[in-house]
Amino acid sequence: MFEKILIANRGEIALRIHRACKEMGVATVAVHSTADADAMHVRLADESVCIGPPSAKESYLNIPAILTAASVTGADAIHPGIGFMAENAHFAELVSEHGFTFIGPAPEHIRIMGDKVTAKRTMKEHGIPTVPGSDGTVPSLDFGKALARKIGYPVLIKAAAGGGGKGMKVARDEKGFEEAWTLARAEAKAAFGNDEMYIEKYLDHPRHIEIQLLGDYHGNCVHFGERDCSIQRRHQKVIEEAPSPALNARERDKMGGLSAKVASEIGYHGVGTMEFLYQDGEFYFIEMNTRLQVEHTVTEMITGIDLVREQIRVASKAPLGYTQKDITFEGHAIECRINAENPNTFVPSPGKIENYHAPGGLGVRVDSAIYDGYVIPPYYDSLIAKLVVQGKSRNEALLRLRRSLGEFVIGGVETLLPLHEKIINQPDFINGDYDIHWLEKMMEETPKKNGKAVAGAE
Ligand code: ADP
Repeated sequence: MFEKILIANRGEIALRIHRACKEMGVATVAVHSTADADAMHVRLADESVCIGPPSAKESYLNIPAILTAASVTGADAIHPGIGFMAENAHFAELVSEHGFTFIGPAPEHIRIMGDKVTAKRTMKEHGIPTVPGSDGTVPSLDFGKALARKIGYPVLIKAAAGGGGKGMKVARDEKGFEEAWTLARAEAKAAFGNDEMYIEKYLDHPRHIEIQLLGDYHGNCVHFGERDCSIQRRHQKVIEEAPSPALNARERDKMGGLSAKVASEIGYHGVGTMEFLYQDGEFYFIEMNTRLQVEHTVTEMITGIDLVREQIRVASKAPLGYTQKDITFEGHAIECRINAENPNTFVPSPGKIENYHAPGGLGVRVDSAIYDGYVIPPYYDSLIAKLVVQGKSRNEALLRLRRSLGEFVIGGVETLLPLHEKIINQPDFINGDYDIHWLEKMMEETPKKNGKAVAGAE
């Protein structure tokens, strides 16, 4: 086992990883930008190193600074967290070349899955169903148009290097194709420096269902069931729950089993998630994330397994030590992502937390790195807290969530708390009857006041 792990991240996820390390008796090193000198992960880590100015490019994405920090502190492994360096195959390679362990999968797997076209092709070859669409990247506008006609409108134009819902546009008919193509390519170029595109049939009422996987270096691979992440805005997740209200036990076992089998066939090690769209009883693979995910917490709540601990264990080459039948599920868990954003427009709302009170009690977990008086810097992701609840049934989890949201106080900045309160009181949500388009439709239907939508209004 490692003696000291450098956590190359910030915010709640840096703290989450620190917690797992401490419980394993592993020392931690925090790295931070000058904007994060007062951050909780810096305060709690055993050691900390400032790696640059506020801009992520010069700090959390600064490879020489991170490797130097690992070297001067004598760390033996680097955990990349979520975002920043987590899916950068080059970084993973450099980490190993410099004598540290990268806590994540092999660079080769990061590379295959990072190119969504190669990822889809690989999955198809292994018998995993994919969304009908182009066979590879689309070389030109005219080629794309001809293909879209063949697939049938509406189609989704997607960036091969995509992530975070960026570089993705719907074309509803041939008239709208050129505009969607141009916009998606420009967005992809700006976000990823790569404007290679592919096309998929646009599914009009799917759910987003993903399977949590874990593989070791010895060929063992298990799944931890699914998460339903269909409550989204702009293709980004807002609420996640497990198990999915839409799946039956047979579908769960089938998709979980197939995903774990393929992960094992490709020799995958580490945590990973296969993401699917699910519509009319059919599953379609969309991508694989080769890292920990924000919503891993809902899986932890229903399995009682610390996934970060498992991730660190397998990175140290320890065997899993258990099999699929040892993984059991208990009750239901729901997570709300609490971003510092306007709940109607999603415009970020950085600033000073004036008043902070987190809910608690049986079955309630808050993963957050904020505190009273903390100043949320404007430079990074706006996720400031995750509220996760667990109950014996979905109904118990919902009641607990409603109670916990009512206790949560975050003053001084705008947050998504009012939006969450609104969502969880909608009959469709209560009945588990929603798809990936539901939240945006609900927000459009929200009564307008002074030309602005008002979350929480009845
Ligand atoms: P990213 O890597 O940017 O997150 P994904 O491929 O994972 O992109 O897709 C993100 C979200 O976009 C999905 O959860 C879903 O809501 C939507 N989406 C992706 N592909 C399709 C599709 N073919 N039809 C309808 N919606 C889609």
